[in-house]
Amino acid sequence: MITVNEWFGPTVQGEGPSAGRRCGFVRLGRCNQSCVWCDEPQTWAWDRFDAAAELHEMAIDDVVAAVDAMDVDMVVVTGGEPLLQQQALEQLLRAFKQRRIRVEIETAGTIAPTMTDGLVDQWNVSPKLTNSGNPLARRYKPDVLRAFEATERAVFKFVACEPSDLDEVSTMVDECGLTNIWIMPEGTDAATLERRSSALADDVVKRGWNLSTRLHILIWGNRRGV
Ligand code: SF4
Repeated sequence: MITVNEWFGPTVQGEGPSAGRRCGFVRLGRCNQSCVWCDEPQTWAWDRFDAAAELHEMAIDDVVAAVDAMDVDMVVVTGGEPLLQQQALEQLLRAFKQRRIRVEIETAGTIAPTMTDGLVDQWNVSPKLTNSGNPLARRYKPDVLRAFEATERAVFKFVACEPSDLDEVSTMVDECGLTNIWIMPEGTDAATLERRSSALADDVVKRGWNLSTRLHILIWGNRRGV
């Protein structure tokens, strides 16, 4: 069994190096962070959402069947924090691999990956900065980030609000020896994404990093299930 919040697709990956790629989404329930700007709080914020309505205990086979119905060759497993359910997740990924489906996992990078090599094609690791509002000890685990870097399948996607956030990213990158760095503006509307992208872009490029937008927000706005 695995705890799922929602699944939807086909759609497109909205963020990072695979933005625009056709895929399905499986969003798992619960998180070990509490980001102030979280755009999926229904996975964890039980003071605002009803866990009984948002969390679904599903058999692995039923999740696989839901993805089969999407007819996709890539699945993004996101959350919440998917690695809170690493054992069940490994079973799910084995089924995807049998179907030759590419797998990307979105994680905040606070729990080390222990699953068998080859089940994940790309780890989209999003370490949280001060702007997330999480305490440092909860959001920043240098050894875990080094473990993701060692997989050689990780991209590191930092959510930035202001150009000054990039100095904090630099410190993490240097301390943990991270490569393949992506900066993504925080925002859940097109105007905010445009303004923050413009403010960040020159500095991101100068530092040798990559810039992501949030394609799904630009296309569909901040709607659930797309
Ligand atoms: S890690 Fe992701 S799901 Fe969890 S609170 Fe932060 S933004 Fe939300």
